[in-house]
Amino acid sequence: MILVVGSVAFDAISTPFGKVDRCIGGSATYFSVAASFFSEVDVVAVVGEDFGEEETAVFKGRKINLDGLQRVSGQKTFFWSGEYGFDLNVAKTRDTQLNVFADFKPQLNDRQRKPDVLFLANIQPELQLDVLNQCERPRLVALDTMNLWINIAKDALTRVFREVDLIVINEAEVRQYTEEANLVKGARQILALGPKTLVVKRGEYGVMMITKDAVFAAPAYPLENVFDPTGAGDTFAGGFLGYLASRRDINDKEMRRAIVFGSVLASFTVEKFSLDRLREITLRDVQERYQDFRALTHFEDHEQ
Ligand code: AMP
Repeated sequence: MILVVGSVAFDAISTPFGKVDRCIGGSATYFSVAASFFSEVDVVAVVGEDFGEEETAVFKGRKINLDGLQRVSGQKTFFWSGEYGFDLNVAKTRDTQLNVFADFKPQLNDRQRKPDVLFLANIQPELQLDVLNQCERPRLVALDTMNLWINIAKDALTRVFREVDLIVINEAEVRQYTEEANLVKGARQILALGPKTLVVKRGEYGVMMITKDAVFAAPAYPLENVFDPTGAGDTFAGGFLGYLASRRDINDKEMRRAIVFGSVLASFTVEKFSLDRLREITLRDVQERYQDFRALTHFEDHEQ
């Protein structure tokens, strides 16, 4: 089982192709729906009374356990508003309202304390630490974050960085955190804090996985119609960790496959607003695109 703590949100989004004032979003939402294609997921998060049955339906009919999703009456759900220009790799935050997350103190039950894989999705680093400290050491602990927390909670974030095995992070965040222009050097600085693996998300350019000994790069799936990049990172992490959690061994080969599954799922998310596309697809769609990906990246050396 994968345990995820992160945001369940309402988003307002504007892209050059359209805009939506209120739709379902949140790092834990995208993550759990993506991961549930491969593994069981337990969500630890909080919503307000404005998040009703209609919204909760996003998790239903999947291998997602919501025992850890609290609802607080009289309060509002986390809200994020973001904007993209033609460079869809850069999200500009217009507004962040933590609302119910400001005082959220999760209490994990016995089952939730023993996850196989733990994902600390993008949310306050203090909350990530709180959940991490309640768990018995899982097989793999991974984390995601964003520029806001590097700006306002860097010390707490550094404390979480030291405790995890793997970090999923945007290339701009690597530069911001390390104040190092070169991505590989920046990645090495973060690895020096303790994590064994860094997975650097590079938007439409794909993903680079950096460990002490190796670098692996995968392109993004070349879509003609990218509509809204929101959630691509969390969906990637969900596909990546969901696949890994379903495997007996977590080794370099499986990690590379997992990167491709994560990229495939993210490529669906960006085709429509919110989780609209992710909710339509089946595992078969995922597998078909996975095969396309093999063809996309395959090449052969000269005959000897
Ligand atoms: P990404 O995968 O990076 O595009 O993440 C998009 C999601 O992150 C949106 O659905 C937002 O609701 C959520 N989000 C934005 N800012 C924050 C934040 N500061 N903490 C937690 N979640 C956030």
